[in-house]
Amino acid sequence: MSQFWKPGAEKPRILDDEEGGVLFLSSSASSSGYGYVSIEKQRQRLPVYKYRTAILYLVEHHATTVIVGETGSGKTTQIPQYLKEAGWADGGRIIACTQPRRLAVQAVASRVAEEMEVKLGEEVGYTIRFEDVTDANKTRIKFLTDGVLLREMMDDPLLTKYSVIMVDEAHERSVSTDIVLGLLKKIQKCRPELRLIVASATIEAKAMAAFFQTRKRRTTKLVESTTSEESAILSVEGRGYNVEIHYVEEPVSDYLQAAVSTVQLIHNKEPYGDILVFLTGQDDIDAAVKLINEEARNGGKNSSGLFALPLYSGLSRAEQELIFSPTPRGKRKVVISTNIAETSLTLEGIVYVVDSGFSKQRFYNPISDIENLIVSPISKASARQRAGRAGRVRPGKCYRLYTEEYFLKEMSAQGIPEIQRSNLVSSVIQLKALGIDNILGFNWLAAPSPETMIRALEVLYSLGVLDDDAKLTSPIGFQVAEIPLDPMISKMILASNELGCSEEALTIAAVLSIQSIWVSGKGIQKELDEAKLRFAAAEGDHVTFLNVYKAFLQSGKSSQWCYKNYINYQSMKKVLEIREQLRRIAQRLGIALKSCGDMQAVRKAATSGYFSNACQLEAYSHNGMYKTVRTSQEVYIHPSSVLFRVNPKWIVYHSIVSTDRQYMRNVVSIDPSWLTEVAPHFYRQQAPNPFIH
Ligand code: ADP
Ligand code: MG
Repeated sequence: MSQFWKPGAEKPRILDDEEGGVLFLSSSASSSGYGYVSIEKQRQRLPVYKYRTAILYLVEHHATTVIVGETGSGKTTQIPQYLKEAGWADGGRIIACTQPRRLAVQAVASRVAEEMEVKLGEEVGYTIRFEDVTDANKTRIKFLTDGVLLREMMDDPLLTKYSVIMVDEAHERSVSTDIVLGLLKKIQKCRPELRLIVASATIEAKAMAAFFQTRKRRTTKLVESTTSEESAILSVEGRGYNVEIHYVEEPVSDYLQAAVSTVQLIHNKEPYGDILVFLTGQDDIDAAVKLINEEARNGGKNSSGLFALPLYSGLSRAEQELIFSPTPRGKRKVVISTNIAETSLTLEGIVYVVDSGFSKQRFYNPISDIENLIVSPISKASARQRAGRAGRVRPGKCYRLYTEEYFLKEMSAQGIPEIQRSNLVSSVIQLKALGIDNILGFNWLAAPSPETMIRALEVLYSLGVLDDDAKLTSPIGFQVAEIPLDPMISKMILASNELGCSEEALTIAAVLSIQSIWVSGKGIQKELDEAKLRFAAAEGDHVTFLNVYKAFLQSGKSSQWCYKNYINYQSMKKVLEIREQLRRIAQRLGIALKSCGDMQAVRKAATSGYFSNACQLEAYSHNGMYKTVRTSQEVYIHPSSVLFRVNPKWIVYHSIVSTDRQYMRNVVSIDPSWLTEVAPHFYRQQAPNPFIH
């Protein structure tokens, strides 16, 4: 280890680049002296290894270091280890590395634990919402979502246990990443010793560096030994291979089918090498996996030896491991993924990429007050990232399921940061809880629209979370902020306290926190519908969840019972876990744990949280059309709801999914008089709006 530079040691040789303020460094670390452990060798082959000394030097001397490096160059898995080896985790301190996605947190933490030959959860651990795999005494490198880091600031505003915080995947510009960066900038002012690394896969990093006040540096200044408040940019030279791009000649009408045929074509014509396909969501991914695997099983002439695996958030650990395990000899693996494989995860052995040109993106409209996930065209930046996945191991090929003309003329250069297309209710309450009173004046990397902020303040005011001065109310505001759930669900839990049904509210909240409790899959729709009928409650989905949960407990938490009833056993185990954690939080907040069995009370509690999502059935509607009470948007009950075709007159919904129509998922029937009772300000037309002057 002696040739590695450590904090405080003599500086390595650094050359300054004349162009663009990007530093290129000649590494003093050589790979000699190593080589007996294969994992060590693998680590040394990564592009980032050559910059080890330089990274450590910059981190020592700059409050903020921005590191740009192509996906797969080793930023996420290596840099935290370098920092630890250099002593940044000595004296009980912790190195943090954030990721926007939960699945990436788990995957990367387990990879690093494996490289360091330690047990996951000890020296290397991770935390995602409702899952803490760390050890308070032992963990030195901790991976976590940026959302969890935000939560941690509520207990420890200066994040004192961390010596270095690496905000990874910054180019993704998730809502939490943007907010975390704004807050970290504040924290740095109070904690000059804190080191920040912002890691990004694209050169958009320049905007990041400007945000942290980078200025062009001259060589001589690097001699200084004190910390510079200016940030440094380091660009890790990738070594991606050439990727040949193919476009379709005519636009495709069905990208799922086109993706499947392209995979088969590649398999038929091209030499060995795995295939990565980018589709948009669980449904189309599962469908494509099934099509490919069935064809292979039936001995389709283009498919023998081909096997497909899905990749999206919500996969179990076992399913994740399959993705990362080497492809058996004579086989070809096809991974069909959401944009999680675009930059968050590196898969070995990919030589071919099939890019649908779409991803699911969040969109919020402050006028209609509806947020949903919509299948939308990706940006050129994303398209390039996707293509790059084919050139990791050797020259590769990327098949774009759109025309070259479309790519050149119509695709936008960059995506819009998520914060500018999201509902900000959750973010605003968190900022308020962290003492940021002037939300409009917050140091945003990209400012959200004033309409969105005002709408968020309005909803929080009506929830009783903010007072007339837009400050958190006590105790409700602080309590809602404390519960790690959507503020509307948190409010439901608080309301249930007075209504005597907190046990029920906790169960509902836990079920709403996971994707679905039902088994998914095409071709079992009839059986699934029949199973649902066994538990269906006329009051709606929330009450149905209570029926399922009760029956599950009565079965002795049996997996057999779940199997028979088309209920996902893994999901139910997760519900139990989350519920237990929520129960502890509720107790800490002084909520009495009570069950009353009165479904009217339960629905009223739900209304207290979801009143802004109230809808009325159109009087003469024959097709189940509802209008939202506040903004008169046309919405329909989702076919997966137990109230589909039942169409009660008044309902509140949990979320909207948009396909051909705006569908409401998880709905419960209500009495309209409750609306003015629980949210008089929101539903009284003439009420003065304290936020618009
Ligand atoms: P970056 O963060 O720069 O995109 P990573 O640190 O995630 O890069 O990955 C670096 C390398 O580590 C990858 O190219 C791959 O070879 C290897 N790697 C990462 N995760 C895994 C994993 N789960 N299994 C096997 N190899 C992995
Ligand atoms: Mg990474």
